[in-house]
Amino acid sequence: MLGASIMPQIAQKKLYTAESTHQTVLPAPINQEAVKEQIKSLCKKRNAVILAHYYQDELIQDIAHFIGDSLELSRKAAATNAEVIVFCGVHFMAETAKILSPDKKVVIPDVNAGCSLSNECPEEDFRKFCEKHPDHFVISYINCSAAVKAQSDLICTSSNAVELVKQVPKEMPILFAPDKNLGRWVERQTGRKMTLWPGSCMVHETFNEEAILKLKINHPEADVIAHPECTEVLLQYADFIGSTSKLLSYSQSSSSEEFIVLTEPGIIYQMQKNNPLKTFIPVPGIDGCNCNICPYMRLNTLEKVLQSLISLSPEISLNEQIRLKALSPINKMLSLSA
Ligand code: SF4
Repeated sequence: MLGASIMPQIAQKKLYTAESTHQTVLPAPINQEAVKEQIKSLCKKRNAVILAHYYQDELIQDIAHFIGDSLELSRKAAATNAEVIVFCGVHFMAETAKILSPDKKVVIPDVNAGCSLSNECPEEDFRKFCEKHPDHFVISYINCSAAVKAQSDLICTSSNAVELVKQVPKEMPILFAPDKNLGRWVERQTGRKMTLWPGSCMVHETFNEEAILKLKINHPEADVIAHPECTEVLLQYADFIGSTSKLLSYSQSSSSEEFIVLTEPGIIYQMQKNNPLKTFIPVPGIDGCNCNICPYMRLNTLEKVLQSLISLSPEISLNEQIRLKALSPINKMLSLSA
């Protein structure tokens, strides 16, 4: 849940609201160009690569060597020759990079960048849950800790969950964790009933049906595009459902000129860059609040990226036994995904 210290930082930002543009600015007037130059030069000196998730602040997206969703970032982390990975995303993502690249130094700009899905699935509780279903094949969404990955048979992302579930033999019961909303959507796509862990994303759960209806009335020609972490009630309004990278490519290929975007609005930066003539409308949280913005993702800032490159910390470290156990279901995912 939100730490009290998080909110003031968020409150200082210019935040996304419905019908607003999608710009954010850093709270303090720093010399952004100077900071970017220092980051560039330190990356060279340290042989470092910056990987950023689409939900990062646009300033961070602009300095990243690679921007992607969880699956793309996992692949990039596994393939890079850099000695240092600066992971601009949340903790479980940086952990995944470390699982795949144990010999590299993996740092995260703010170590408190967690995730409600991962927090709601503690290692011990998950162990008991699995023990209650010993005959089940355990598929975990990548949004979980290394300790939970280590107890799983297969990892998936929102890009490949449907495709992977379809590959599990029909007679084998499946336990799916930790996102019940993604799990339900996969059930509907595959016709497979699964035992679901009851977790959810605090951001995607705050989207509001009334707000979508209002936006649809004001923008009747717009396509509604949604991430499958949204609740079933909201997904029924979607013209297209997919992971962040799939939403991005859909926004390019669709002939529609307006899009109502049902996911964290950080993705709109790349959508707008790729489609300057199209209009992207973020959906606000309940009562127009700014809880549609992931408070964890936005803990990372340009200054913290610089700091992490200077000090090479906070560093992600993992127990080797857990790392090896977590590596196996991740490698299985990478080999099974098209
Ligand atoms: S948007 Fe949701 S799932 Fe993604 S990092 Fe934030 S809390 Fe976790």
